[in-house]
This record gives sequence, C-alpha cells and structure tokens, in this order.
Amino acid sequence: MVLEPKPGTYALILSCSTTIRVQIGRLGTMRLQPGYYVYLGSALGAGGLRARIAHHHKLSLRPHWHIDYLRAHTRFHGIWFSYDARRREHQWARVVRTMRDARAPLLEFGASDCNCRSHLYFFKRCPSRTRFQRALESLAKRHPPVEEFEPVNLSRVRLGREH
Ligand SMILES: [Zn+2]
Repeated sequence: MVLEPKPGTYALILSCSTTIRVQIGRLGTMRLQPGYYVYLGSALGAGGLRARIAHHHKLSLRPHWHIDYLRAHTRFHGIWFSYDARRREHQWARVVRTMRDARAPLLEFGASDCNCRSHLYFFKRCPSRTRFQRALESLAKRHPPVEEFEPVNLSRVRLGREH
C-alpha cells in the first residue's frame, strides 16, 4: 500500500503507555495517560499526505509543531485519511470532539491558528474509524471516502522520501 503525495486531511492515531509529563512547546505541559491520542491535520503543500505522514512517523530532533513533542512519547498506531484539496482538519476536529469518551487533554493543541478547541483528543479505548466516518458524513455531505492504515499494515506502508 502506498500513501500518495497528494493533498489531504488525516487523523494520526497514537498509542501511549506512559504517564510522564511532557512540555508541549510554549503551549504548556500535559500529563500523558495510557490510551490513544488522535491528532487532526491537513497536508496541502508539496509532498502532500505522504511527506507529512513520513514526518510524523520519524521522531523530530527539532520539534516544530505541538504534535512533534507528543510524538516522542507515543507509538504510531494508525492513520485515517482522505485525499482532498480542501482543508478539512477543523471539520474533522469538530467531529472527533463529539465522539463518545473524547477528551481534550490540552486546549489549543495544534489549534493556535484556528478557532477549534483543540486538534488533539484522548480516548481510553481506540476510537472506531467507522463511527468517525458516520459522524463525518452526517455533518459533511459528499465527503470523500476516509481510508485507513491499520497498525498491522503500517510497516508495509511505503512512505517514500520526505523531500
Ligand atoms: Zn482547527
């Protein structure tokens, strides 16, 4: 399975098994909890989804985005994504926020430049992509299909070179 270098919106599903406190840039600190973190983003520039997911997949030596700080303490669990030139990350964040048992562990995470409460949500149990898609489709008619890389397939995803 190949992730295309096309524009799109994605949800990064990260699993966590630690309880350490992490400094998230200048935003603040966050105590991690065992469970799943879901981060929403869009990749509309050069390299599209492939380059962005490759960035998230490896650890950043020089963290730039809030998610880079969290990434070092979590494991890649899966990705939900849609190929689409339209920026849908805020819409996705609204939908994830309304999912059962979703919590915003740190307000404004990944959302410094928008009005969303957060682009990061925490779930004790791994959230269901099917439920997410159903909620999304009820909000956004004619939404392109949401695809998924499951954990078992992730090692087989050819992410390609970042640049
Ligand atoms: Zn937003």
